[in-house]
Amino acid sequence: MVSCSRCGRYYDSSTDSNTLCFSCRNKVDTISANVVKIEDGTILLRQLLWLNHGCDLKYLYGDDGEMQCTKCKIDFKRFSAQEIEDNLTGSNIKDSKPVSS
Ligand SMILES: [Zn+2]
Ligand SMILES: [Zn+2]
Repeated sequence: MVSCSRCGRYYDSSTDSNTLCFSCRNKVDTISANVVKIEDGTILLRQLLWLNHGCDLKYLYGDDGEMQCTKCKIDFKRFSAQEIEDNLTGSNIKDSKPVSS
């Protein structure tokens, strides 16, 4: 018998190496399913913003599901909405110098 790492309840872990009891495992599954659902909705908006925030397509990095702008240094996939706004409207753009390449 092993103690659940979430609720401390003892359970039979002989079937697998999971550290959560069955009821905690079900809860965690439900939570992560909801998170995926929320991300499904915002991923489209993030993609639109990434493609339309004003930078040339040559600055956009989109391999392997990434959504980054190498000019603004914004990660549209991982940054929070607030972080993206700060980067788009804040000092990053004012301070940016013309690219001299
Ligand atoms: Zn538990
Ligand atoms: Zn950009």
